[in-house]
Amino acid sequence: GRDGEPSRCTILYRVEDRQIQGYFLGGKYPDIEEAAQAARVVNAIPEGERRPLEEIADAAGVPRRKVRIVLTLLKRHGMMREHRGGEWERAAADVTTADLSRELTDYEERRALDRRKLEAMIGYSQTARCRTRLILEYFGESPPEDFRCGHCDVDTGPSLRGVPAPPAETAAPQPMPWENGDSEHEAEAFAPGDEVSHPTFGEGVVLEVRSERAEVDFGGHGVRTIRGDFLTRI
Ligand SMILES: [Zn+2]
Repeated sequence: GRDGEPSRCTILYRVEDRQIQGYFLGGKYPDIEEAAQAARVVNAIPEGERRPLEEIADAAGVPRRKVRIVLTLLKRHGMMREHRGGEWERAAADVTTADLSRELTDYEERRALDRRKLEAMIGYSQTARCRTRLILEYFGESPPEDFRCGHCDVDTGPSLRGVPAPPAETAAPQPMPWENGDSEHEAEAFAPGDEVSHPTFGEGVVLEVRSERAEVDFGGHGVRTIRGDFLTRI
């Protein structure tokens, strides 16, 4: 985090979530076929008569919320009138003449985008590779083949897939892209009195060393406990 201390993030993920999310993505927007089906039912309503949304949806065999979207689009095109209580009236002789292709294409693109976002999140949750690598790749970077951040659960412990990860000693932390690349710093290598520098807090003096962390007095930035690999001896 901004205090230089390690931050811990937890992913809550279940395989079943994919199906649930996929279901909602699939059910959000009407496609061309569903729009045409709803329009055919609307065309069959006698002129001047009103029908509740549920009735139109049932007759069309299309879910209500999709029919609602189609009717709203038709209303925007001046071909439907909406009355109180969710009743709809046709305002044109043939509503299938409405060109809804632009709106429906927008929905198609939105649906594809939603699906890509879901796939990316599932990939992140299920990966057997370094999770930081996935984030870097998502944002367009190409980390080297052997890149390991050394901090994520995949790099440091047994993964959710049960793939044994190498012991922590051999998984040396790699510098994060925003670090200066010089990471040969174990806190054990520091001793009280050492002068060190930190990318955010500047120069300081080591007060105490505990396992992989060091307590450092940064003067104006106060006394902070910092992981050794964030410190550089000066
Ligand atoms: Zn990692």
